[in-house]
Amino acid sequence: MNNTMKLLAVLALLLITVSTAPGQTKPIEILMVGGGGSHDFARWYGQEDKSTIESAGEFRVIYTENTDSIPAYLKHADLLILTNNQPIGAEGQAAITKFVEKGRGLLLLHAAVWYNWEDWPEYNLNYVGGGSRSHEKFQEFKDYVINPAHPITQGVPAKFEFKDELYRHVPDPAAKGIEVLVIGQSKETDAVYPVVFTVKHRKAKIAGITLGHDEHSHQHDAYKSLLINAVNWIAN
Ligand SMILES: [Zn+2]
Repeated sequence: MNNTMKLLAVLALLLITVSTAPGQTKPIEILMVGGGGSHDFARWYGQEDKSTIESAGEFRVIYTENTDSIPAYLKHADLLILTNNQPIGAEGQAAITKFVEKGRGLLLLHAAVWYNWEDWPEYNLNYVGGGSRSHEKFQEFKDYVINPAHPITQGVPAKFEFKDELYRHVPDPAAKGIEVLVIGQSKETDAVYPVVFTVKHRKAKIAGITLGHDEHSHQHDAYKSLLINAVNWIAN
């Protein structure tokens, strides 16, 4: 082996060592969009959920309420979380559509599964698989895991309860369909609605969690597990 060959061998070894060094993996970039009415988006999504997700180790969350910045941020994002009910302009809608149609993942939390935007019916049809137009009175209600085999429900108790708004979530028969993983039952009316579900899409992994009104959910272990599991399922 001549000197050049030796040098190349050493360089190759160095390269392998550097590329496989622990802690060197690039984090998965998540854009989280908040903002709108009826909720403290900055506190419970921008702080609490961001920190819950980042505690899982491999994620970096950028939180914004500036919907005009969505196209720029999405160029570098691996995954999108929508929590907002404020309007999203035409350019933001187009950027989100392009992102999801390319097969990038989408997680929808609480207010983002509502029928928020009359100028964007494709959002509910293609990405929520339906939506909510009302909710049961804010109350403590029971949630039941009905698909314990799914990665999103791993480590989540079969039954749990906390105070939230039980959204009256209705699948749209014209949509591709949702797979319900967790249901909630109103104590007041006994009515049952989907609270955690995946949305069928030809390329992208999409999940929805209708929970998340305030601290009663965001600081609850079951909610935190569902959030981390959903991000992991979508990202991998
Ligand atoms: Zn709410």
